[in-house]
Amino acid sequence: MALHEIYGHQALTTRLAEGIAAGRFPQVAMVQGPPGVGKQRIALWAAQALLCGNGPGMPCKTCPSCKQAQNLSHPDIHWFFPIPRPKAADHEKQVAEAQELLGNAIAERRENAIYGRSDGMLGHPVASMRLLKRKVSMKPYSGRMKAIIIGNAERLVIQESSQESANSLLKVLEEPPNDTSIILTTSQPGSILPTIKSRMIPIRVGRLSDDEVKAFLQNIVPDAPTGRTLEKITLLSEGSPGNAVTRIQESGQKSGAAERFLTATARGSSAWAGEAFGQPTFAARGAFSEMLDDIALVFRERLASGNASELDTKNALKALGVVAEIKEGTETNVNPQLATAALALKLEKLI
Ligand SMILES: [Zn+2]
Repeated sequence: MALHEIYGHQALTTRLAEGIAAGRFPQVAMVQGPPGVGKQRIALWAAQALLCGNGPGMPCKTCPSCKQAQNLSHPDIHWFFPIPRPKAADHEKQVAEAQELLGNAIAERRENAIYGRSDGMLGHPVASMRLLKRKVSMKPYSGRMKAIIIGNAERLVIQESSQESANSLLKVLEEPPNDTSIILTTSQPGSILPTIKSRMIPIRVGRLSDDEVKAFLQNIVPDAPTGRTLEKITLLSEGSPGNAVTRIQESGQKSGAAERFLTATARGSSAWAGEAFGQPTFAARGAFSEMLDDIALVFRERLASGNASELDTKNALKALGVVAEIKEGTETNVNPQLATAALALKLEKLI
């Protein structure tokens, strides 16, 4: 099965295709925008546009290069996204394991290109970055160029890795070879190390209209709901087809963390303090951000239900403001434990 078409983002893809045709696409780009709006899909599209056999520009969709890109089997498009940490002991085996994990995940996406949000506990292990460096140093198979895509770039764990590998990754991003285009994607540009960010040209991706999200769900997502459920999921997605897909896949289930947190907050400070300080610290920032999204969803649902009292409505609106504020804080290197405590203090009176 091939990758699905891009829904929405027409003005953006037209502009990017013109830039690509004119040779003006940045060598290191950072696609940024809200979670689930299709940033990695756009990065894959840009790679296809750069490599199209009929010349760089709007992809022709019919040449062998485009077909391989659409089938996620292009030898010059290398896609990195969060994976579990390899278990092997030595570096060489870890790299092989990372390659296998990525290969298997891509094979799954080839079968079903609709995927929900990335599990917050996954990341880009050092082995992935070693693999990336190898891909960067290889000659392009097609002879023209190669494209490297790094999804969820805020999870690059440069801080955790050895100084040597951190420096060499920075060097790749600073001076990629001429035959290499690197496209990072993130919904949290504030979490990207300034040294990396300063080298990127940002490409901003906006939200889709409700009609575009609905069309995406109806045409692309197998077993998408219909009728009022479809309307509700569209509304709650906030212009993000990925949000809608995650919601359908999790069939309305909020993650356990959000449920636990809200229950503890309703029970008062001694209960929520335990919950807040039981949060894993640094590595789980993705999981923390996921929990905030789920908490926001609880309040959005309350508003969308149409039968909340006036007080509940006001409180839900205030609570959404609080969650958004904390979420903004997570874009800088805030400590999830303290942020959870701050959130509980503010939400205590509103739930
Ligand atoms: Zn083509």
